[in-house]
Order: sequence, then C-alpha cells, then structure tokens
Amino acid sequence: MFADLHLHSHFSDGTFSPEELAALGRQFGFAALALTDHDTVEGCARMAAACAAAEIEFIPGTELTADQDGNELHFIGYFVDTRNAKLLSQIAKFQAVRQNRIREMVAQLNRLKVPLTADAVFALANCRSPGRPHVARALVQAGCCATLDEAFERFLKKNRPAWVPKMKISAVDAIELIHQAGGLAVLAHPALNRTDDVIPGLAEAGLDGLECFHAKHSTAASERYLEMADNFHLLITGGSDCHGLSRGKPIIGTIRLPYEHVEKLKSKVESRGSKAKTATPTPALDSRPSTLD
Ligand code: AMP
Ligand code: ZN
Ligand code: FE
Ligand code: FE
Repeated sequence: MFADLHLHSHFSDGTFSPEELAALGRQFGFAALALTDHDTVEGCARMAAACAAAEIEFIPGTELTADQDGNELHFIGYFVDTRNAKLLSQIAKFQAVRQNRIREMVAQLNRLKVPLTADAVFALANCRSPGRPHVARALVQAGCCATLDEAFERFLKKNRPAWVPKMKISAVDAIELIHQAGGLAVLAHPALNRTDDVIPGLAEAGLDGLECFHAKHSTAASERYLEMADNFHLLITGGSDCHGLSRGKPIIGTIRLPYEHVEKLKSKVESRGSKAKTATPTPALDSRPSTLD
C-alpha cells in the first residue's frame, strides 16, 4: 500500500480537478492521497468525496509559504480542520496578497513591453490563489513565451525582472497556524530550498515531519533527509508535488510513499487530539457553577 501526500489541483496552480486527481490515484493504485494546494483548502471537500467514491483514504492539507532568515520554506499542514477560523482568515490574507502580486508582476511585464493583462491571468487562473505558474501559462497562451520554462527563466524566477516576492509568515508562525488548526506541520521538499541547517531549529519549534521523498529529490537527498528525520524524531512523508502533466505525463505516480508512514502521521495527530482534550478538560457537570440560582 502506497500514498502520494503532495498534490495540487486547479484550486491553486495545478491543472487537474480534485476528481481527476482521485481518478489518477485510483489508476495508480494509491491507498491514500493528500491535497496540498497553496494557501487554500477549498478543493478538499470535493477531493474527499472523489476519494471516498474511489475507495482511497483522503488527507486534507494545504501548503504555506514561510520565510526563515530570507530563505523561502514551504510547510504542508496535514489533517488540518478545513473550517478552522484562524486558518481560513490567514489564508484569505495570503490569497489577497497573491492577487495583488499578480497585478504587480503584470505591471512589471508591461514595463518591459510585454503586453499581458492581469485580467487575462485571473481568467486563466480562475481561482482565489493565483501564482507564478498562472502568469507563465498566460505568457505562453499570449505567444509572449514559447514554454513555461522560458517564462520562468526570462521573467518569473527569483531576481528576474517580473519576480515579485510573496507575503510570507515566519516558519514558527506557519507551524503554529497549522497546529492550532489541528494539523501536523511538515517541511516540504527540503532539498529544493537547501535549508538543512534550519531543520534542527524547526524540530525544536514543533515541526512534525520532513518530506523526504519528492519528485525533485535525488536518491542521495532522500537518504540524507531520512537520516535527519531519524536524528530529529521527525515523521517521514513524500509526494509527487503533481501540478498536472509534465512532458505529457502526470507526475502523480512517480512517488510511492509506503503506507506505514501514513499510519504514523495518523497516530501522531490522534495522540495530539487526545492530549488536547486531557489538557483542557470540560468541567464535570456537578462542579460547574449553577446558573439556576
Ligand atoms: P508562487 O507560489 O506563485 O511563487 O509559485 C511557485 C510555484 O511555481 C511552484 O509551486 C512551482 O509549481 C512553480 N515554479 C517555481 N519555479 C519554477 C520554474 N523555474 N519552472 C516552472 N515552475 C516553477
Ligand atoms: Zn505550486
Ligand atoms: Fe512547494
Ligand atoms: Fe507543492
């Protein structure tokens, strides 16, 4: 039994619908899938229903962007309560910033005489959580770039002319936001951020897990993070980070996380839930102050 715990749908910058992801998950024989859209949990209800119909276990999630000493880190919150008020209000802020950022990126492109409109990007994105991949697709669609890679290389990569930084919370605040929503906080694709030295401090701050397996991790990187997970008592996760098709093939199916790691995640989230209950006991009926007299 295997899981893919890192998937994006069209509720953020993926191209598949939740139903398409569940159907692909079934085709690849996954026992469990997580939806981890950037700054949104909107797709979780549909994905839960589609997974239930496909007899796949579903884990709700979201991927948040944080900053630690100028390094961008991505944290995935697994098993978050998708109705948690604080989580929803924070992600609404992140979404508003993302929408303004699209306008700023388009303004930068216009300064470079690239004729793109923010409305064209919003129409293409058709979601509350638009990002650079939508700008890249709009550039290709408008014939301004031949490929998505070219759009990133020429304009959208960090320090390229249309790059605009994203609102980020601190790593500690991201972990806390996920925890208060009942979730487990996992550092996503650590090898892509080259941030090994921050892992001990994050573990101290309550990080629950490390995404050891990722489509862009080399075997050596995965092995290094498995060792770090062991050293710092972190849970192990993995996922494809599928955003749709790549060179005509879906990335989902390329990472197969053994299901035992899902069991460990569930045990931790359950034990934390029961600890929270014992830490704040409801007063016994007979010890409550009476409101009748
Ligand atoms: P954003 O959240 O708007 O900063 O966009 C980040 C997303 O852009 C990532 O999740 C990737 O899907 C995608 N991305 C980042 N860098 C590249 C790149 N060089 N080429 C293609 N896609 C990229
Ligand atoms: Zn993405
Ligand atoms: Fe990411
Ligand atoms: Fe991702």
